[in-house]
Amino acid sequence: MKIFTNKNQLKKNIKKGIKLGFVPTMGAFHKGHISLIKKSIKMCDKTIVSIFINKPQFNKKKDFNEYPRDLSKDISILKKIKVNYVYLPKYREIYPRGPNLGIKISKFSNQLCGKFRPKHFKSVVDVIDRFLKIIKPNKIFLGKKDYQQLKIIEDYIVVNKINTKVIKCKTIREINGLACSSRNFILSTNEKNLASKVYKIIKKNKIKIIKNKHLLTKIKKQIYKIGINKIEYLNLINLKNLESRKKNFYKVFISFYLRSVRLIDNI
Ligand code: AMP
Repeated sequence: MKIFTNKNQLKKNIKKGIKLGFVPTMGAFHKGHISLIKKSIKMCDKTIVSIFINKPQFNKKKDFNEYPRDLSKDISILKKIKVNYVYLPKYREIYPRGPNLGIKISKFSNQLCGKFRPKHFKSVVDVIDRFLKIIKPNKIFLGKKDYQQLKIIEDYIVVNKINTKVIKCKTIREINGLACSSRNFILSTNEKNLASKVYKIIKKNKIKIIKNKHLLTKIKKQIYKIGINKIEYLNLINLKNLESRKKNFYKVFISFYLRSVRLIDNI
């Protein structure tokens, strides 16, 4: 496994003429990350994983500072699953002249998380664009757990005719339904149980919500009742409108807080 911290070294040393799979991450690996990486290993000749906590995409300094980090554990996981290349750039390497917030991204960024996290998606697309220019992968592996992010990146790749295919990977969950997330590492057992209850409430009521959107208000109340004190949004979205599918395909999107830890899911 080759580890690069420098983009010129990386460009020189990555084998040419092979199918290269790229998995961008912010580290603190869990089963979700590992499933993306294993999928890339299966589908591509070589796999590169980046670990970079992208400061500009955080709206709050506290959130950035408290974001879980465990680089030595991450590296040993990557070695074990036989990843070919790891890219660990420093901030200056990625942003020699600072971030580019003038980047044009799809309108889907104006709703859900985008409403509550100004500049978040522009910063995400900006960093992914920079990585794609350095790495030039054939495929990029993204998780449906962050569906809005995945779709906005895919739209950007299509509009800008970037020669990288987006591979959408299913959300990996704990047995209790809680979607795996690096942020779960900073939750207590009680908090994780509460978060899994949120998933169960939505899962149980999804069909009813599709039949009657107004039920969302009642579901919100139910979620507050179990002890969640802040829901940012709870929305029903028809993905048919976003993915040019033929049939209706609904998902319930939620963002809520446990203390200062913000969790998102789509069910
Ligand atoms: P992150 O390190 O949180 O930026 O995530 C890196 C990649 O892993 C993104 O494409 C995420 O969508 C994906 N991911 C995060 N959690 C999960 C999960 N539970 N299941 C599948 N993919 C995930």
